[in-house]
Formats: sequence, C-alpha cells, structure tokens
Amino acid sequence: MELHRHHLEAEVRRQGLPVRDGCVDLEAEQTTCPACLHVFAPKGHQRCPDCGLAFR
Ligand SMILES: [Zn+2]
Repeated sequence: MELHRHHLEAEVRRQGLPVRDGCVDLEAEQTTCPACLHVFAPKGHQRCPDCGLAFR
C-alpha cells in the first residue's frame, strides 16, 4: 500500500497539484479527489463518487 501511495503522490505532483498527506479533507465544503480530480462535497462520503477511491 505504501508503494501505491508513493506512486499516487508522484502522479499528483507531476500534475502540479498539492499533496495533502495523501488524504482528502473530509471536513471541507468541497474537496478534490487526488486520483481523478473530481470535485465533490465529502460529507457522508468515504469514497470518491466518481472513481471509487477510498479515503480511509
Ligand atoms: Zn476520484
């Protein structure tokens, strides 16, 4: 899993996006999926509604 996370962070950096410790701010009004960049309201979600990435 650690290897996957490194790969994900590298992908995010390559696209010039901030890496937020590999997790999503679930308290924010809106957040952006680090994998697919889908913007959504994270309340009540534990997965990205678009790509299904699990946040915890
Ligand atoms: Zn996603």
